[in-house]
Amino acid sequence: MATTSLQELYVEQLQDLYSAEQQIIKALPKMIDAAHSDELRNALTGHLEITKTQAGRLEQICEELGEYPKNEKCKGMEGVLQEGSELVKEVSNEEVRDAAIIAAAQRVEHYEMAGYGTARTYATLLGFDDAAESLEQTLEEEKEADETLSSLAEQINVEALEEGESSRPAGSQSGRGKSSKSEKSGGKVRRIA
Ligand code: FE
Ligand code: ZN
Ligand code: FE
Repeated sequence: MATTSLQELYVEQLQDLYSAEQQIIKALPKMIDAAHSDELRNALTGHLEITKTQAGRLEQICEELGEYPKNEKCKGMEGVLQEGSELVKEVSNEEVRDAAIIAAAQRVEHYEMAGYGTARTYATLLGFDDAAESLEQTLEEEKEADETLSSLAEQINVEALEEGESSRPAGSQSGRGKSSKSEKSGGKVRRIA
């Protein structure tokens, strides 16, 4: 459709986010099955429940606008999820696979954060204050999920690093020191209160 107003753009963003959430609801159980760490499985399971609530919020916002939520396919999220599942499948070691799951899941959260930030701002500009509040709530939940994954990565990435160490041929030199393991571990190194 030809989009001529910010409100139409807003509706498209909502539909795109709805499609993204639906795809995440399908993908998370596979990530949970593939995860080895209990903490990681619990975090993903918790976020699956939250994700269902988030999809419900989008349905409600669309309904109040008289719009059908299911008119867009989020090809971006499709790509993010497909890349993640391919990555996770190719890793056989449990610890390294958990690190890959975190890498994939954080891409999902950041992609969502971009969409919700935009949709929330449009809602505010268009005077849809309740919708803006509800989108802001989801945005905060996505940020929390990302932070939880970052804090899990602090341990899991280091375990993955040590696994790589033990499977490396004896005597091989990779030129890394213990002191720099945080920087090499990939995920953001950040303490969550
Ligand atoms: Fe979400
Ligand atoms: Zn999209
Ligand atoms: Fe999310």
